[in-house]
Amino acid sequence: MMLQINDLNAHYGAAQALFDINLEIAAGETVALVGANGAGKSTLLKCLLGLHKATSGTILLDGKDVTKSTPAQMVRLGVALSPEGREVFAHLSVLENLQLGAIPLKLAKSEESSRIAEIWTRFPKLLERKHQLAGTLSGGEQQMLAMGRALMAKPRLLLLDEPSLGLAPLIVDEIFSIVRQLARGGTTILLVEQNAARALSASDKAYLMANGKIVEQGKSKQLLNNPALRSAFLGAASDDNPAASRLGAAGLTNIRLEKPDMHTHDFMPKFQDEQALKDHQLRGLKWTVSHAYEGSSQYRQKFDEAGISPGSIESLEDLQKLPFTSTEDLRSGYPFPLRAVPFEQIVRVHASSGTTGKRKVLCYTQKDLDDWFSFFARSYQMAGVTPLDRVQIAVGYGVWTAGMGFQMGCEKIGALAVPLGPGNIDMQIQFLLDFQSTVFCSTASMALLMAEEIHQRGIADKIAVNKIIYGSERSSRSMRQKISDLFGGAELFDITGLTELYGPGTGIECTTHDCIHYWSDYYLLEILDPDTLQPLPDGEWGEMVVTSLCKEGAPLIRYRTRDITRIIPGQCPCGSLLPRHSRIRGRSDDTIKFRGVNIYPSSIDTILSEVPGLGSEYQIHLTRDSAERDHLRLVVERAEGVDDRRSAELIHEVVHQVKKQLLVSVKTELMDYGSLPRSERKIQRVFDNRIQDEIV
Ligand code: ZN
Repeated sequence: MMLQINDLNAHYGAAQALFDINLEIAAGETVALVGANGAGKSTLLKCLLGLHKATSGTILLDGKDVTKSTPAQMVRLGVALSPEGREVFAHLSVLENLQLGAIPLKLAKSEESSRIAEIWTRFPKLLERKHQLAGTLSGGEQQMLAMGRALMAKPRLLLLDEPSLGLAPLIVDEIFSIVRQLARGGTTILLVEQNAARALSASDKAYLMANGKIVEQGKSKQLLNNPALRSAFLGAASDDNPAASRLGAAGLTNIRLEKPDMHTHDFMPKFQDEQALKDHQLRGLKWTVSHAYEGSSQYRQKFDEAGISPGSIESLEDLQKLPFTSTEDLRSGYPFPLRAVPFEQIVRVHASSGTTGKRKVLCYTQKDLDDWFSFFARSYQMAGVTPLDRVQIAVGYGVWTAGMGFQMGCEKIGALAVPLGPGNIDMQIQFLLDFQSTVFCSTASMALLMAEEIHQRGIADKIAVNKIIYGSERSSRSMRQKISDLFGGAELFDITGLTELYGPGTGIECTTHDCIHYWSDYYLLEILDPDTLQPLPDGEWGEMVVTSLCKEGAPLIRYRTRDITRIIPGQCPCGSLLPRHSRIRGRSDDTIKFRGVNIYPSSIDTILSEVPGLGSEYQIHLTRDSAERDHLRLVVERAEGVDDRRSAELIHEVVHQVKKQLLVSVKTELMDYGSLPRSERKIQRVFDNRIQDEIV
């Protein structure tokens, strides 16, 4: 803990102003102290700065007791204040105000100039007004100056007292985006605010104060979504009744929070117990089989051949009697395969981007779309996205499902969508900076490309992305780590989905980052041995086979996805009751058969991830020599900054680990960091050159 306040009491004469205050701030954290005027926030700040003596209790800074320290001592210990009402020197210039802030620090001239230069970079508006008298600045600019002056001390703990007070909403936006950037840059911040909505959305943790006491505390995101607190602190203020709360009355509510019903809407399914879910699934299965039989000639023919009638389904186990559906059925039914409703009821088609053969085309009814957007909103909810987020969508828009799914799900949950589509790196970066997007959605390759661009431009502390939702592609652990690091510590969420089954959003990684929860109220998932097509026990890797439960336009019955995953038994520590599977490990049809061994490319991912010193990019090359012997060559990058002289040792380790774990011998070639191709589309990593015949 950087700061620890224990059982602090304070009085003004006989009147008690603070009652047993306990508050903690860890290094790097932004903590909000929220309360109305007169709640005791200022007294607490004064005690902290040594301006008012506490009656009892202790204040520890880095574990040292500073309860009795003077204001000057606190400054030397690295605590700086940006005061309420700014308190800039009106008759001095902007530059002179900053220089004045540096006097108590007794800095060398060169250090002072370099700190002032940093302030100019952080606040370009102040640089423009460098020689202007501070008294002539706007309120927002004065606030920037007050913050800049406090930052001259390079504080370990920055106290921001009411930074939004009296400022217009647009300026408040600007001030808070600076607060977020400071936080991302590692500054520890105590943010004291009346504007609860703003303070909570800009902080990690918050304490709510009333009448000299801490009345509530916790993670800011959770407090924001707590209905009781919302009405007490944020107000049940609405367009009709803006004065429903104190803050509403003061005109301080954040209008975006007041979208009707959005913040209270829960997209998680509500089943009392497992049996209730099973009953729902059985009803869905019965309906699906009879709907497919009645509505689709393709299904009817398959069922007739297998001796299945709509009445054959009496239990969930009867699923296993049903024939499989495959890519082949989608192709043979082109252009409207598996269609089970009349055209009047179809409101949209989507298609896969399939490059070989005919595209897979899927029909949607209005209900199908509503269902999809609703469970996509659930995916966002599971990743912790709220109406306060700004979601930059960098996946493909058009006939494929991706863009539309991400977009409608985002609007459904009430967040702000930035529908940019893939590619266009310059515009992506510009929007990340200008819009301060908090969530970035893309493929894993695109996320990596963006991460490297952010790193190259050195702007990680100027963007606000804290979540990356990526899908449609496998990703290694080291690639995930790298994306997260270069994005300044963003949290990654792998989202699953396939065009055949609505589109993306049929499941997502939860905050434990160990598994994918899937929406078992919308589809059944089986894991089968891809060769024998027999069910595998929970925990074993096999092919994912899905059956939709309420899909009208083109129902799926035991559809072979070719995706390889496994069921994770038991309940997730995140508390969700929804079942889960592992991240998709590959596709059954991209297994590499090499000298009698089946190798999933993802197992190579895993091995390489575990060798420190290697980068996340690699290629697998397969060749066949004149003696008909197969060879596997791995091309791997060294990690950034790893010396070429370590190559021999790294190669040895890769060869050794592959031999040990996959039981095959490989040749390994090591390249410089950054020399393998990157792409915003799926990166080709497997090059199988063993068959030289032309494919007809
Ligand atoms: Zn979970």
